[in-house]
Amino acid sequence: MDDLRRILHRIDGRGYKAYKDIAGTYSYGPGIKLEIMYVQGDPFASPSRLRAIVDSDRAGFPAELFSNRSRRVALEDFLVREFGKAITRFVRGSRGTGKSGLIAVDRPGQEILERTAVVVDSERVEARFFVGLPARGRTVLGQQAEVMLTQEIPRVIRAALFFESIDQDAARTQVELAEDQDYLRAQLKDMGLVAFVGDGAILPRESGISDLPMRGERVVPFRSPDSLRVSVDLPNRGTITGMGVPRGVTLIVGGGYHGKSTLLRAIERGIYNHILGDGREFVISSPAAVKIRAEDGRRVEKVNISPFINNLPQGQDTVSFSSEGASGSTSQAANIMEALEMGVDLLLLDEDTSATNFMIRDIRMQKLVAKDKEPITPFIDKVRQLYEEMGVSTTIVVGGSGDYFDVADTVIMMDEYCPRDVTADARRIAAEHQEKRFKEGGDHFGDVKHRRPLTTSFNPQKGRKNKVAARGLDSIQFGRTEIELQYVEQLVDVSQTRAIADIIYYGLRNYFDGRRTLNQVLEAILRDIEKKGLDVISPFGREPVGDHALPRKFEIAAAINRMRTLKVR
Ligand code: ADP
Ligand code: MG
Repeated sequence: MDDLRRILHRIDGRGYKAYKDIAGTYSYGPGIKLEIMYVQGDPFASPSRLRAIVDSDRAGFPAELFSNRSRRVALEDFLVREFGKAITRFVRGSRGTGKSGLIAVDRPGQEILERTAVVVDSERVEARFFVGLPARGRTVLGQQAEVMLTQEIPRVIRAALFFESIDQDAARTQVELAEDQDYLRAQLKDMGLVAFVGDGAILPRESGISDLPMRGERVVPFRSPDSLRVSVDLPNRGTITGMGVPRGVTLIVGGGYHGKSTLLRAIERGIYNHILGDGREFVISSPAAVKIRAEDGRRVEKVNISPFINNLPQGQDTVSFSSEGASGSTSQAANIMEALEMGVDLLLLDEDTSATNFMIRDIRMQKLVAKDKEPITPFIDKVRQLYEEMGVSTTIVVGGSGDYFDVADTVIMMDEYCPRDVTADARRIAAEHQEKRFKEGGDHFGDVKHRRPLTTSFNPQKGRKNKVAARGLDSIQFGRTEIELQYVEQLVDVSQTRAIADIIYYGLRNYFDGRRTLNQVLEAILRDIEKKGLDVISPFGREPVGDHALPRKFEIAAAINRMRTLKVR
């Protein structure tokens, strides 16, 4: 620390570039280190990157708090949040021009995600964070920097990275909760389920722009219908009960505004673990569940959409379908086929965000518009083949078409926010009102074609520099092309978006070669991450990026599939 102080005294009042001299490693005392990895070029540029490393015998975290992946990720997440709280408590904030005075760490939302912001292992606890080195104009404020680096940051480290300082009960609770959630997710298959919604869960959110739980007297906690109730023994919490969504085709029906979409949205998010108090702690879905929606205007590159779309005008190819701006129905078909390419096992659809002509074609329309004039084979004629031939289940919100009763295994009705099992009623009604629509699905579902991305698809350069970055949750800048992700609904955290950008770049450096399929490349990358940690995708070599969070294969593929520069064989 004395070295650091000396440098700061020397450069005080000089031009901003003089800060470059402080890059390096310093000691805050035995077993506690500060590394200044990267120093920003000016007070408005991206802030400097630092990390604090505390030896584990000093940090004092009991080994059982990180003894398996679930526990480690949950503990790391907990410590990121503690670090953020400590910053709010101990850091004064603005101290001059631009980002001067800022100290920041990644900010998790309602999910518990694997992140690079804090790493815990048997040797150390390490936090990565960002600092706006202070300046007036472009002049180094050495004394202010000294306060930040030698007083504020050590206080934050003391408060967040030492077991003795944190709320130990809360940490243990989160670790055990996440372990229970992962355990339940791993049990679903053996239980014959694709999703589980725990009794007492709070599904609705505070508002359309908030992911916090709805509060107040109007909230109706989830209560499973008797016939669908299952119980499961969790390693920490013991026995819980809830609604099991069985494999196969499940309809969510009910009147408008009765909570159908809210239930589906909770299931979409059940691929992630949630923090205590979220309300969705025990809404757990298959890790390979994918939300499918219409997305007109998206680009599509050589996807076989022929199971759903044939006979397009002007003889356009649907076995290898490309479009710079797909329609509602063709985009929805492409979204399904791309999800199948990545190994989806549960499709989640909502009528609110689907193309009507993709979902259904009733008998009258079948009679008026001959099959050879209608390119679309509606989803209703394919949904059973998906399940029976490929083992892919579907959960679908349909308030508007009883034709789906014929293809459903389970029908759940939302009634004043309460689910009821109406499968038997729906069967009876279907039998009484035999509909005479023609089955259009053919004998088989059709083929899922694997595509091999060409390396020329990915050019990280913009001008003479590489430019690979997330521009918020919904957008990635990759060289000169922009990737739009606002309809990739299961992407939840901007740190995942940042990771996706760097994963594509990592894939370009290591795996994309025009021979490997997209699935093979992404599998290989995710294996690397599992073996070596999420730090492997850092574009800075051995220097970690402090604000990455792990995305799923499906969301990475979604980004690549939406690149306007993608070329495949
Ligand atoms: P639907 O898809 O059936 O039309 P939504 O799921 O969009 O209905 O829900 C309609 C409204 O009801 C939303 O504002 C939602 O927040 C609210 N809501 C949903 N579930 C509950 C619940 N369990 N308790 C209270 N309000 C709820
Ligand atoms: Mg709805």
